[in-house]
Amino acid sequence: MTDLRRRGDGTRVVHAGLPDAVDGQPFLPGPTFAAPFHASGDPLDSPYVYGRYDNPTWSAYEQALAELEGGRAVAFASGMAAVAAILLPRLRPGDVLVAPSDCYMSVRTLARGHLAERGVEVRLVPTAGDAVLGALEGARIVWIESPSNPRLDVADLERTIDRAHAAGALVAVDNTLATPLGQQPLALGADFSMASDSKHVSGHGDLILGHVAVRDPAHADELLAWRIETGAIPGPFEIWLAHRSIATLDVRLERACANALAIAELLGARDDVTAVRYPGLPSDPGYPVATRQMSRFGTVVSFELAGEQTANEFLAACELIAEATSFGGVHSSAERRARWKADDIAPGFIRLSAGCENTDDLLADIAAALDRAAAV
Ligand SMILES: *Cc1c(COP(=O)(O)O)cnc(C)c1O
Repeated sequence: MTDLRRRGDGTRVVHAGLPDAVDGQPFLPGPTFAAPFHASGDPLDSPYVYGRYDNPTWSAYEQALAELEGGRAVAFASGMAAVAAILLPRLRPGDVLVAPSDCYMSVRTLARGHLAERGVEVRLVPTAGDAVLGALEGARIVWIESPSNPRLDVADLERTIDRAHAAGALVAVDNTLATPLGQQPLALGADFSMASDSKHVSGHGDLILGHVAVRDPAHADELLAWRIETGAIPGPFEIWLAHRSIATLDVRLERACANALAIAELLGARDDVTAVRYPGLPSDPGYPVATRQMSRFGTVVSFELAGEQTANEFLAACELIAEATSFGGVHSSAERRARWKADDIAPGFIRLSAGCENTDDLLADIAAALDRAAAV
C-alpha cells in the first residue's frame, strides 16, 4: 500500500484503504456477504471465520479510517453503538464520567439513564469556558465533543486532554462534526476518536454507521471484543457504500464548508437573525481555539430567529434546504432544534447543515425564505 501520510487530503481519501493494484481486480472490491466463511481445522488459521467476528469489507473500511485518523479503527453499526462500546465496558459502579451538558443528546440520555442507574457518577459540564477542568477529580473517562452539537461551542482539545490525562482519566472525543479531515483528536492526545459515520464520512444521508479510532492497540482489541460479544456489527453493504463515499470526502467538505461560511456571513449581516454561531467566523467566540486545532470549520451553522413561528415559517419557505434532522450530507438541511425538547436552547434556534449545492443558490434561497418568514 502507498504511504499517503504526506499527501493532500484529496489524494488521501481517494486512495484510503484500497488494496494494491492487481490485474483483473477492482479498485475497491465489492461487499462480501457471508455468515460462515470456509474455515477448516483451527479457526485461528483462517483470517475470516464468521460474519459477526470479522469481514473483509469491514477490514478495508477500517484501514481507510485508520489512515485518516492516524490510529487503529473499529467500525460499528451506528455512532451510538460506537459511543456505547467506549463507555459501557469501561465504567463501573463508583466510576466518574465527565461529559458535556451540551453534547449530542443521545450520549446524555445514555449517561443519565443506563450509566447513572448502574452507579456511575455522571458530571455534565458545559463545553464553553473551562468548566470541564474543575470537574476532573477522580474521573475515569472524560467525554468531549468539539464543536459541540447543536450550539457549536469549541473546547480546547489539547489543554483539556492534557489536564484529563494528568487527572488519570481516559479521553474520548466525539469528532463527528469536524471529521478526521478537519480535526485530529488522536494527534492532540485523545485515547478515542469517535464519529457517527451516518454524517460526513458516508455523506449522502442514506445509511447509519459509526467508528472509533484509537492510539493504543489494546483499546482496539477491547473494542473488537465488545463488538463480537454484543453483536453491534455493521452491514457489509453499508460499509462498502461508506468506503466508496470516503473518496469524495475532501471535495464534499470543501464545497460544504465554504457554503457554511457564506451562509454564516449572510445570516450575520441580517437584523432579523441573532446568535449566529460558526467556528470559522472571526467574530465567533470559538474562533481563536478553532483556528489552532481545526483545519476546516465544518458544515453546520446555528442561529436564532424571533421565535417558534418565525422559525417554522422560515423552514417551510426554504425550497432547497430540507426540513430534517442530522447533518453532514450532500443535501442542505435544517431544523428547529427545540422541537426535540432535549437542549437548553431558544424556541427559534435553527441548526442548519450546509450541503454541496451551489453557494449562490443556497444564499438566495435562505435570503428569500427569511424575507418571507419576516413578512408573515
Ligand atoms: C449523529 C450523532 C451521533 C450518533 O450517531 P448515530 O449514527 O445516529 O448513532 C453521535 N454524536 C454526534 C455528534 C452525532 O451527530
